[in-house]
Amino acid sequence: MTTATLFNHSYDQSTGRNPTAGLAPVRRIVIVGGGTAGWMTALILARSFIERGVEITLLESPAVGIIGVGEGSTPWLRGFFDSLGIEESEWMPACHATYKCGITFDGWSTRPGFERYFHPFASMLDNLTLKQFIHNVDARVNGADVHAHPDRFFIAAHLAERCRAPKAPESFPFDIWHGYHFDAALLGQFLHRKALERGVRYHSCHVTQANLAADGSIASVSTREGETIAADLFVDCSGFSALLIEKALHTPYVSFSGNLFNDAAVALPTPIDGAIPSETVSTALRHGWAWRIPLTSRYGNGYVYSSSFCTKDEAETELRRHLGLLESDVEARHLKMRIGRVTRHWNRNCLAVGLAQGFIEPLEATALLFIQQTAATFVEFLEKGDLSEAAHQRFNERVNAHFEGTRDYIVTHYKTNSREDTEYWRANAANMNLSDELKQLYAQWMSGKGIAAPVGQQLLGKGYPVFSWYAIMAGMGIFPDRGQLRRPNEREGIYRMGEIDDLIERSSANYPDHRAALGHIAPRRTGPSLQVYFF
Ligand SMILES: Cc1cc2nc3c(=O)[nH]c(=O)nc-3n(C[C@H](O)[C@H](O)[C@H](O)COP(=O)(O)OP(=O)(O)OC[C@H]3O[C@@H](n4cnc5c(N)ncnc54)[C@H](O)[C@@H]3O)c2cc1C
Repeated sequence: MTTATLFNHSYDQSTGRNPTAGLAPVRRIVIVGGGTAGWMTALILARSFIERGVEITLLESPAVGIIGVGEGSTPWLRGFFDSLGIEESEWMPACHATYKCGITFDGWSTRPGFERYFHPFASMLDNLTLKQFIHNVDARVNGADVHAHPDRFFIAAHLAERCRAPKAPESFPFDIWHGYHFDAALLGQFLHRKALERGVRYHSCHVTQANLAADGSIASVSTREGETIAADLFVDCSGFSALLIEKALHTPYVSFSGNLFNDAAVALPTPIDGAIPSETVSTALRHGWAWRIPLTSRYGNGYVYSSSFCTKDEAETELRRHLGLLESDVEARHLKMRIGRVTRHWNRNCLAVGLAQGFIEPLEATALLFIQQTAATFVEFLEKGDLSEAAHQRFNERVNAHFEGTRDYIVTHYKTNSREDTEYWRANAANMNLSDELKQLYAQWMSGKGIAAPVGQQLLGKGYPVFSWYAIMAGMGIFPDRGQLRRPNEREGIYRMGEIDDLIERSSANYPDHRAALGHIAPRRTGPSLQVYFF
């Protein structure tokens, strides 16, 4: 059975922990890099290892800043804070954070009725309407004229449209799997403070080189300040420069530039007042897409584009026009992105986490999830004490499968676009650089036989669950043209949309206004936590 909430991985990562397990001979860990990746990894490692006497030191260059973007999350960030025992009521105000029900995609499809759709995070309540959604979508792919746009089937879409928070009172016991928006710089400072409180050591220094041992592992790093710092395990969180994993260990890198064309971004803040949306909006522009992320203090905005199709200046002008800021002197930040991944995230005695391990562009805001899952999965391996080559291989296969599945989901946004206004969009639609799994998925969709089984069995399901695949294909309107639809037969037309609308309307009445909810963030709920699918 397909459910929105699948139960093979705990939401609270603490359940996977084995405090009595033997720890491999790792007594000293050095993390290079103090961006979000460095501090999240430090906290995840500290939680398991500091009390067992492992020394964790984070090195950060005073000369190289953090990337300073990355302000939207998936729901997994909630699991991260829960596992550390950090309350929303503590971290959210400190980071100007808001709740996120999902992402609206605007202007990616030109198919009538499908110009805009919402990719929701799952809710327990969706189990009441998911069956109807999938039934109608499958019927419509087969030519029946039934309603199949995702937005009317999911409560998160309803809440986002009305600027409501995905936080019901305790008396309404249905959890919604929500993400967050936050100020990246403030989140970094918050995590830094927490990590120091929990025993992580911090050292400001610029790493200039890694010194290899005879067996090819990293023995120590040298710094511009004249120190040599040794450790048993090194974690490369040095961002796109990938100092240890690539520059020192020469781990091969797989570029995704043939699948995903975007390689640059420009960012600009704007003020926020009035209602605070509980969603990210991703609007397709001429050579990429613009994000709008609401914080309590401002909107974060940016344009992710391909430098093969437009210049930096053209991108900035287009973003300014989109935001009504053509006359404004607010300064824009320009960034380059490298899209792809290393082949071995754990290579010898080095683990790469964050941008150093790879990056899939930010369309679905998955990068923090990769950080969290890479670090948490590594802890699982380390706790078992197995540092063998076979363990390395299993670990890398697992992380790579997550990367590939996620990449294919992101590719689908571009591949299914129907815009014809620029060469960029036409090239994306025509791009046949697709994985075999993705080709099979599209063929299966077109066959009208449903995609639940193939997604579940393939790597694709390692990135996104079945309902997300249905949401994207249906949301982009990948159906027969309207003129080709026929009256549904008795079996196809069993569901009444009015009943689904009523159910969602009644349920959503339990959820408060977003701005009001942010003013009264309650302590953690104590009920059963929502469990969801993961790799
Ligand atoms: C345009 C854009 C939008 C994004 N949006 C999202 C999003 O919405 N959601 C999401 O989850 N992610 C997003 N990301 C990704 C996210 O920003 C990163 O995954 C996250 O910030 C982690 O970055 P990092 O810590 O790996 O690297 P960085 O922030 O670049 O940190 C690198 C660290 O390494 C240190 N360092 C570098 N060289 C040296 C040296 N020689 N010696 C010592 N220290 C050194 C630096 O001082 C710094 O502390 C986005 C990325 C981009 C480019």
